[in-house]
Amino acid sequence: MLQDSFGRVATDLRVSLTDRCNLRCSYCMPPEGLDWLPKPELLTAEEIVRLVTIGVERLGITEVRYTGGEPLLRRELVEIVARTVALTPAPQVSLTTNGIGLARLAAPLAEAGLHRVNVSLDTLDRETFVKLAHRDRLADVLAGLAAAEAAGLRPVKVNAVLMRGINEHEAAGLLRYCLERGYELRFIEQMPLDAQHGWRRENMITADEILAMLKESFDLTEDDPVERGSAPAELFLVDGGPARVGVIGSVTRPFCGACDRVRLTADGQIRNCLFATEESDLRAAMRSGASDDELAERWTAAVRTKKAGHGIDDPSFLQPSRPMSAIGG
Ligand code: SAM
Ligand code: SF4
Repeated sequence: MLQDSFGRVATDLRVSLTDRCNLRCSYCMPPEGLDWLPKPELLTAEEIVRLVTIGVERLGITEVRYTGGEPLLRRELVEIVARTVALTPAPQVSLTTNGIGLARLAAPLAEAGLHRVNVSLDTLDRETFVKLAHRDRLADVLAGLAAAEAAGLRPVKVNAVLMRGINEHEAAGLLRYCLERGYELRFIEQMPLDAQHGWRRENMITADEILAMLKESFDLTEDDPVERGSAPAELFLVDGGPARVGVIGSVTRPFCGACDRVRLTADGQIRNCLFATEESDLRAAMRSGASDDELAERWTAAVRTKKAGHGIDDPSFLQPSRPMSAIGG
């Protein structure tokens, strides 16, 4: 079991398959992109499956989410998903993606056994998309969403980050778009994880602000909080339900006390928190011949030292040197 010193147990593994991306969302990375990890530093598909197998079969991982960077850019994705689904006990397997390429890959992924998909969509306006993501790809994202729905990857979940002065006025429009198509929308507060270190608290649209904007157009009632468990989203029934909308107040309403996540970066580092400043190098251990037992031990030790909270409000808070795209959001 992956238990930390506060008694929290990690059962949800987020695996970054690549740090590369075909968008440049400004809350994540600069327009010119980043220095991508050299290929030899990336885990191979074989190494990823080996580590995920150890997590699932020995360490109590019950959910595996593939992310990045952009996971659809990883050529072996369908194979990695199929091999993950085939593990015993079978974990829930999901994907977080920007949706570009999903029009082609949704059906093969569903056939491989993928259970769910989260697609990031911050705007429905083409010009705003270009301003925000520095690429003219909104149509590809919307096509990807529709393909996920058609492939039966339901409920399709949508993640949106609102930015002041850019897309904040789209909260209600995004929700309406998702309601009409049966997608479940979640707004995420912008976190200090961009590579440019440009995050400013005063520029962040808070969960309270998001809810106030939505309440101008919809009737929101809190959904059963017991069901929330370790899930970060506070869920609200829209206009009496059953449709729901979620708000993830990572900064203003932290949920660290119930966190059940652990992360594996594309270069094989275990991180016990998005905001961790230390990592445990499973790749080096694996490549110098460590056994599955030894890898499991290192992993367990890495989780044990997880801090109580992310401390964004702490004066001593330090943004991790790895940006979100290289951690796996
Ligand atoms: N490229 C994929 C995507 O965009 O969905 C997967 C990786 S991305 C890092 C995962 C999620 O993190 C996306 O929903 C994205 O909007 C979110 N994200 C990225 N940077 C963020 C930040 N600084 N604050 C909050 N969410 C962020
Ligand atoms: Fe790429 Fe996702 Fe980061 Fe946007 S949020 S730049 S799609 S990794």
